[in-house]
Amino acid sequence: MTRTTPSLADMRRQCRKTLPGIAWAAESWTSLGWLGTRRLTRALRREMPPGHRLAGLDPQAIAAELSQDSVLYALSDGRVALVHLTWARPTDNPNWPSTSLYPSLDDFLGGLAVEYAGEAAFARTFEIGGDLGDVYCAECQSNWSDGKTGEGCVTCGDWPLARPCPVCSGACGEVWDRAIQDSQDSGEAHWIGTCRRQT
Ligand SMILES: [Zn+2]
Ligand SMILES: [Zn+2]
Repeated sequence: MTRTTPSLADMRRQCRKTLPGIAWAAESWTSLGWLGTRRLTRALRREMPPGHRLAGLDPQAIAAELSQDSVLYALSDGRVALVHLTWARPTDNPNWPSTSLYPSLDDFLGGLAVEYAGEAAFARTFEIGGDLGDVYCAECQSNWSDGKTGEGCVTCGDWPLARPCPVCSGACGEVWDRAIQDSQDSGEAHWIGTCRRQT
């Protein structure tokens, strides 16, 4: 099976489309325009010592953390690399700047979404709890509005008033709200939401 490598423009477009939809990641990550790309692509070239694992892979910046310490680069073989820039001169250490490789942009963005999904679910929980006041699990009496759940409690289902999308474990970036009444009535956790990967 041959794999077509997505073009740089495609990858940039995907970052622009996907990053704003990832809860919380949207506040710390941004896709890059041509100028940012040029600047951060050059920054990496300057920092890369000979023998660095990205040497020969023509890394091109496509997205960055707003602090611009972590930058995502598209590689010529279709993979992407997350590089922690040091903003210093290259050292003799070929492992520096430190680099994590991902098989594709999809893999990276999915991982980023999962990383932020838990935080987003708790933020959403406190938001709902703020509106409703204290809501307790009828089974274990944990205060869901306070972000609490009972260990092993089926009604809680490990999450309080919101959780990362249960279909894809949060890779789609969606947070689902608890169906409170259904959960209490049935004794099992019920959630309301849509997986964005399935639409
Ligand atoms: Zn419970
Ligand atoms: Zn999903």
